Amino acid sequence: MKQHLIVSALTVADFLQTHPRRIGAALAAVLMGSAGGAYAVATRTPVAAQPVHLVTEALEQLPVQEQVQALQAHHLTLYRNARVRASDTAHSLLERLGVADPDAAQFLRSNALTRQMLIGQAGRQVFAEAGEDGALRALHSTWLESGNAPQFKRLLVQRDASGQLQARVESGTPQRNQRLASGIVRSTLRAAADEAGVPDDVMRQVERIFEGNLDVQRALHKGDRFSLVYETLEADSGEELRAGRVLSAEIEHGGKQHQALWFAEKGKGGAYYTFDGQGLQRAYLSSPLRVPLKVTSGFGMRIHPVTGERKGHAGVDYGAPTGTPVYTVGAGAVEFAGVKSGYGKLVIVRHNDQKYETRYAHLSRIDVKQGETVSAGDLVGAVGATGVATGPHLHFEWRIDGEPVNPVGQLAFYRESAPLSAAGKKAFAAHASRMHVQLAAAKEIRTAEFE
Ligand SMILES: [Zn+2]
Repeated sequence: MKQHLIVSALTVADFLQTHPRRIGAALAAVLMGSAGGAYAVATRTPVAAQPVHLVTEALEQLPVQEQVQALQAHHLTLYRNARVRASDTAHSLLERLGVADPDAAQFLRSNALTRQMLIGQAGRQVFAEAGEDGALRALHSTWLESGNAPQFKRLLVQRDASGQLQARVESGTPQRNQRLASGIVRSTLRAAADEAGVPDDVMRQVERIFEGNLDVQRALHKGDRFSLVYETLEADSGEELRAGRVLSAEIEHGGKQHQALWFAEKGKGGAYYTFDGQGLQRAYLSSPLRVPLKVTSGFGMRIHPVTGERKGHAGVDYGAPTGTPVYTVGAGAVEFAGVKSGYGKLVIVRHNDQKYETRYAHLSRIDVKQGETVSAGDLVGAVGATGVATGPHLHFEWRIDGEPVNPVGQLAFYRESAPLSAAGKKAFAAHASRMHVQLAAAKEIRTAEFE
């Protein structure tokens, strides 16, 4: 059983306070002074491991109940977190959280809020505080209902003045933040990413960004490095709700540097470029999922030799669990987002090259609106089994001039030339120099941690 440490947002200001000598003064000044939002460093410091202030005065005059509480404050509080599993009972979840408290288990089982929002909500991260004796003091979990939900929700279980457990739900507005992270491959890339606190989803984006030039997953070996700047959506308490887009990335492989930078010209879907402004990516991603692909039904369009009728399977089906995020494979605009007969919940993206469209069907959830501009890799919804579907899967279609075409092994080779305009070039240069500084900072953080 693996206990995950919390990946917390350590702001650059915090970092500079705790590691005053470890960042170049000039770089620190630039980081602190530069515009563009708060920076944070991906670390593995538990959020809860903050200094605790103890009140110790006038203890003997306090009523018994308060004395007990004050005494408890001197005792160790254990902070742990775990992810909810589909098979979890109140008991098994608390056990993984290091809580041995039958009353608390009973509370989680019987309370309407915890039954609905905690037990069975696989994947949800839960934080618990327990006393040395294993008694639950407090528990909370924060989540987004969907990838683009305007508010996050937080379930709180706390003890009231009389020591009874109470549950309530609050909501808040997610904050967009940026994280810097870097790592050195010692065994595998995955281990290095874990060590640096970088979510899997971010590493998969990195793979996609460089896929035209480098097989990141296979090629990277011992001694290779990566530095990243990526967006996160966070709750007010700094918990990461989900990872957003990779804004810039640098990979040092076999002594050679590969760099990428996200840039969107005003009013257009963005793309990745090298730092000197060359388009880096192919126009389309090879697939709309970031999980290992399992084709459950291949493409099979045929035109009937006699009737001329089109028959068969107009797309490709990828088996994946309900809720698996689905991403548009290319930039464009959402032409349709809604329910369409056998397709169930469907998103159609009309790409920048108007001849091309892609369809994402049987979704359990739609995360875009009709008319919205999207870039390659943007979240459009989640895998489901709506419409005519025997089980959860993504039906993915690619059409050229309305005709279904097999996307497998072909889509990724289509290019769209989208050179920067004159105004775009100027904005790009300014953006690139800011990102250079951030990547440099990400690298220094790495060095500092391993001094
Ligand atoms: Zn299908």
